[in-house]
Amino acid sequence: MSIPPRIGFIGLGIMGRAMAMGLVRAGFQVSVYNRTRQRTIEFADLGCEVASTPRALAKMSDTVITMVSDPAAMQAIMEGPEGVFSAFSGGNTLVNMSTLSPDYTAGLAKKCFMAGVNFLDCPVSGSKGAAESGQLVILAGGDKAAVEKLSPVLKAMGRAIVYAGPAPAGTALKLCMNLILGQLNTALAESAALAQAQGIAPELIFETLSQNPALNCGYFQFKKEKMLTKHFQADFPLKHMLKDARYMLAEAAKKKLSLPVTAAVVTLMEKSYNSGYGEKDLSVVLNNLTEPLG
Ligand code: NAP
Repeated sequence: MSIPPRIGFIGLGIMGRAMAMGLVRAGFQVSVYNRTRQRTIEFADLGCEVASTPRALAKMSDTVITMVSDPAAMQAIMEGPEGVFSAFSGGNTLVNMSTLSPDYTAGLAKKCFMAGVNFLDCPVSGSKGAAESGQLVILAGGDKAAVEKLSPVLKAMGRAIVYAGPAPAGTALKLCMNLILGQLNTALAESAALAQAQGIAPELIFETLSQNPALNCGYFQFKKEKMLTKHFQADFPLKHMLKDARYMLAEAAKKKLSLPVTAAVVTLMEKSYNSGYGEKDLSVVLNNLTEPLG
């Protein structure tokens, strides 16, 4: 990458804040936009320019990175008179790192292609801690040469880039990874609930896991404190995992594939979501297993 890009970053939530900070720390020229302006203050304090609209941000950037909730959020920042597309011209680059649906991502890729905008489909594997330490795994879709060209930027946020193929292959791979995550999360919660029901201290699950290399995995240890204290402050909000799991079922249905365990995980997450836990960490499903049956 000969001339470093002027980066515009949109979406300073749990993940985007940490990822944009990684870019700033790596010395890139970063401007930011966030719907809730308060979240931009710490970036302004670091000397980053703060745009008042997505359009204004796109005007001051040649590469725009997006890390927002879902397709509705993406629509809000990309479209309309104040959206990114209104200021983009041929040669600009859009790197979406939010988890969107494969259908939406394919539509975005097509729209960018028609406008002469380079589009990279780059959702991430890893949560808040990995984003803060620059250890995300970036699941890259799009033109391979374009991914390679942008790799110094991507590597400021992640430890590895896994190239998946043309868009929406990055998003498709992301859904496969979150399928495993959703099931691991539920397995841990059900195990803790069964332990409690049998009068076994849930701590013993974690102690046993930590002694058994075949079963121990980072995810279980990451969720240990939340599961034991039942304080579910979000690293990965349940509402986002539920969104992703619904995309998995929709993709599977299109291919006439049955995902029975994922379907059960969705039912459990919906119960949690309907209990008002959407903003909590996805490990909050434990509450719906341990609360007395109605
Ligand atoms: P988050 O903390 O909920 O942040 C969401 C961001 O989207 C905020 O900046 C929010 O702005 C913005 N946003 C939402 N609706 C908007 C709208 N209508 N218009 C403009 N901006 C809007 O989410 P997150 O955990 O960082 O996740 C972001 C994305 O990464 C999601 O797609 C998620 O599935 C994915 N992801 C998350 C994790 C994780 O562990 N958290 C890991 C991998 C991937 P405000 O500040 O104004 O609300």
